[in-house]
Amino acid sequence: MSKSFSLDSVIRKIPDFPKPGILFYDITGILVNPPAFKYCIDQMVKMYKGERIDAIAAIESRGFVFAAPFAERMGIPLILIRKKGKLPGQTWSCSYALEYGTAELEVHKADVQGGQRILVMDDLIATGGTLNAARNVLEQGGARVAGFFGVVGLPFLDYAKVLGKDIPVQTLVEYFGE
Ligand code: AMP
Repeated sequence: MSKSFSLDSVIRKIPDFPKPGILFYDITGILVNPPAFKYCIDQMVKMYKGERIDAIAAIESRGFVFAAPFAERMGIPLILIRKKGKLPGQTWSCSYALEYGTAELEVHKADVQGGQRILVMDDLIATGGTLNAARNVLEQGGARVAGFFGVVGLPFLDYAKVLGKDIPVQTLVEYFGE
């Protein structure tokens, strides 16, 4: 197990990206720092090792990067949740509201098994809208969400309200505004 690590020191904060007024938390600084990346995966394994997690579902594209080594370490399936039009097979899908406009997420029907308890993850949780749409597509397939995970959490954007109290939400580092 790696030692405690200050993720904050490797997460770059970029003002006004992708548009004015947004402070972008860039996790690529974690990926180019092997001890930081190892720390993240170790922490995730530690958090979920004792729990009944049948699969991990990750959201395109930064979620994939953290979910893949976690799935391999845990010996569980990795389910890819992608933006509309990227998956070739039959899909469950869900549209959801963004700050401006809407987006749509999809998952292969064949990848989701009824009764599975699935951990859903992304690199960062802001409003929670993306993870909530991911929950929707997995539930269409008869699975249940066992937990939500984000490497970074922005609780001041009220994701707790969108994700509800019934499903635990875990993060490795939280920011409370600029
Ligand atoms: P949300 O649906 O509002 O929880 O937004 C989460 C998704 O948008 C994740 O896929 C993040 O990668 C991305 N995102 C939203 N806000 C930020 C931010 N301030 N910095 C980096 N990524 C963000």
